[in-house]
Amino acid sequence: MDNDACGGRCEVAIVGAGIVGSALAMALGERGVRATVVDIDLSGRLSSSERNAGGVRATWWQPVNIALCRASIQYYESIAADVGFRQKGYLWLYDQQTWAGALAHLELQRQFGHPIEELTAAEVARRVPEIDRLEGIAGATFAPRDGLINPNLLKQHYRARSQELGARYFDRIFINAIEAQAGEVLLTCWQADENLPDEGLLRLMAQDAREAEAETGRLFELRADALAICCGAWSPNLIKLLGIDTPTEAVRRQICLVDNRVTNLAAYGMIVDTSGLYCHNEGPHILAGYSPPETPPGYSFQYDGEQFFLNEIWPRLYARMSCFERLRHVGGWAGLYAVSPDRSAIVGRLGPRLFEAHSFSGRGVMQSYGAAQALADLIVKGGYERLDASALARERFATGRLIPEELHI
Ligand SMILES: Cc1cc2nc3c(=O)[nH]c(=O)nc-3n(C[C@H](O)[C@H](O)[C@H](O)COP(=O)(O)OP(=O)(O)OC[C@H]3O[C@@H](n4cnc5c(N)ncnc54)[C@H](O)[C@@H]3O)c2cc1C
Repeated sequence: MDNDACGGRCEVAIVGAGIVGSALAMALGERGVRATVVDIDLSGRLSSSERNAGGVRATWWQPVNIALCRASIQYYESIAADVGFRQKGYLWLYDQQTWAGALAHLELQRQFGHPIEELTAAEVARRVPEIDRLEGIAGATFAPRDGLINPNLLKQHYRARSQELGARYFDRIFINAIEAQAGEVLLTCWQADENLPDEGLLRLMAQDAREAEAETGRLFELRADALAICCGAWSPNLIKLLGIDTPTEAVRRQICLVDNRVTNLAAYGMIVDTSGLYCHNEGPHILAGYSPPETPPGYSFQYDGEQFFLNEIWPRLYARMSCFERLRHVGGWAGLYAVSPDRSAIVGRLGPRLFEAHSFSGRGVMQSYGAAQALADLIVKGGYERLDASALARERFATGRLIPEELHI
């Protein structure tokens, strides 16, 4: 992306050019600071930003999560055509067990000015006639300003805008060591000569094979006034170079593409069933996801294919919508959630001149703008201004001031 060699000195170095690192580069540029963004794979083949469902909503349980998503939604509205933002709402179906919890948070969500309606099962069926099996629906919510976005276009938007503002992006770069010194941060970097295959990438980011790969590239130093770590589910590995542990786990999530050539859900945004299954139209197909709660943590990208479709996706779709009786499995993929202990992101100061934004627990696309704007103020101005993300600082795990959030898209 940048023909000059990476190295020397820069204002702010960002490691990780996913949707969060790219959003941060833009936010820094808006504040007159040019970022140097490095990534082991700028195309983001394994990154969560290339493997998610594109859901955007602000109906969360915690004020900080609602505020960051609201700020993002306002921005996405202003660039909707460029990033495929379709505000067709989130329709969420609840069973007897979960309905009271949903109702308990409506007031808070409305206090933020986020419109949200309560629906009965009969009203759901009237609005979405495809939902014709209403068993087990105790109630539903519909938030019309939520919706779906094209995450690839959003990342490209952040990158293009940040480059206009002076950011530079460098590919195939892995960080071997980080040293926070008195007046700067010193990064010891390795740049691969060629793009790595997926298996090599995965081994390297999980830090099993650094020595072997190091023989095929160049080593160099990068000095920065400040460093921001935005490596998604791999952030704990990088932060470990500073001798700091991060209690975040990578958890595999799978998504299926299906179709029956008859059903078209394009009139609706995201639909979330009482069973935990979610779905929406995706181009000519329907995207459907479900996350078995017993999925063990780890850097696994295995997609279980037909077995996942038959065991987890089809029965849940058909139980709610009889139009899905006959359904074709088109394909699918797996990606990683970076899940923190309270299922809220970790954003803030990591040490002198060191910053972090990761562990978005399934919320990184919808929070990318808000979180990046907040963090850019902290980096450039030394404190939060328009958006206060202080509740997301890692100190909360030591002080017990947790920000418990539900885990869903
Ligand atoms: C199946 C699925 C569905 C999801 N659905 C939604 C949704 O509907 N809405 C939503 O908001 N979120 C959703 N998410 C979550 C969302 O995708 C993530 O929170 C978000 O993409 C995280 O972005 P990121 O930039 O932090 O990390 P990533 O996109 O993972 O980027 C991290 C980058 O860091 C690089 N990197 C890692 N280690 C190193 C290193 N040591 N050196 C150099 N570079 C490194 C990687 O190459 C990568 O490019 C979903 C996730 C999944 C898996």
